[in-house]
Amino acid sequence: MEIVEITGNSEIAPNAYVIEFKRIFNFQAGQVASLSINGHEPRMYSIASGNNEETIKILYDIKPEGELTPLLKNLKNGDSIKVSGPIGKFLGDDNPGFWIANGTGIAPFYSMFRSGLADGKTLIHGGRNRNSFYFQDEFAPYFKDRYIRCASQDKGPGLFSGRLTNYIREQNNLPTNQKYYLCGSPEMVVEVRDILISKHIPFGNIIAEIYF
Ligand SMILES: Cc1cc2nc3c(=O)[nH]c(=O)nc-3n(C[C@H](O)[C@H](O)[C@H](O)COP(=O)(O)OP(=O)(O)OC[C@H]3O[C@@H](n4cnc5c(N)ncnc54)[C@H](O)[C@@H]3O)c2cc1C
Repeated sequence: MEIVEITGNSEIAPNAYVIEFKRIFNFQAGQVASLSINGHEPRMYSIASGNNEETIKILYDIKPEGELTPLLKNLKNGDSIKVSGPIGKFLGDDNPGFWIANGTGIAPFYSMFRSGLADGKTLIHGGRNRNSFYFQDEFAPYFKDRYIRCASQDKGPGLFSGRLTNYIREQNNLPTNQKYYLCGSPEMVVEVRDILISKHIPFGNIIAEIYF
């Protein structure tokens, strides 16, 4: 573990923050870093920045009863944090495919996007309301109609009103020869995997990263 100084920590949406520090290692888009503060167990976080950028960014949401995230939120520029990494095999590729995330599970896809791997991808993001679609200002102009924001508790222009799983269930022509990358909560990943299998997507084309 290396001790690094925080260079940014800002709320980008209600309850969601991006913390930033100098890039202390090289990584591949989709990989994970481990963060901890003195005396606390480390937690894993997807790196949410491009692999050529000078800083490493991490997107996190606050678990009010959690051990680490309420402490992370209070860190100011110049404070220290312990970081190790990179680890993980949830790696992007540059073939056409689907990126499917809920909540902060969007982080590895943002890293892949910032690392030049978004060409030919369809991005499907699930969240509660119109504020839940982190990085949408960058995603929307790039992906256009290949960016689907599924809002479980909101309606409005540009939003699919309903859960991400409902959106995927409604799709009838999903290609079976492309890869489907899933990232986020265990419940979402398992449910989407089952829907995809019922739509004849081969198991080997479903690649998942679970935030437990
Ligand atoms: C590969 C991977 C990548 C990840 N990437 C990200 C990411 O990019 N962004 C992100 O935000 N998160 C990510 N996570 C999740 C992250 O690692 C943490 O689990 C999360 O931030 C919560 O940490 P915490 O210490 O605040 O909460 P924790 O202390 O771990 O608690 C989490 C929740 O469990 C509840 N809880 C704790 N202990 C108990 C108990 N004994 N009984 C019942 N409930 C309990 C708490 O109330 C809280 O709601 C990732 C996880 C993995 C495995």
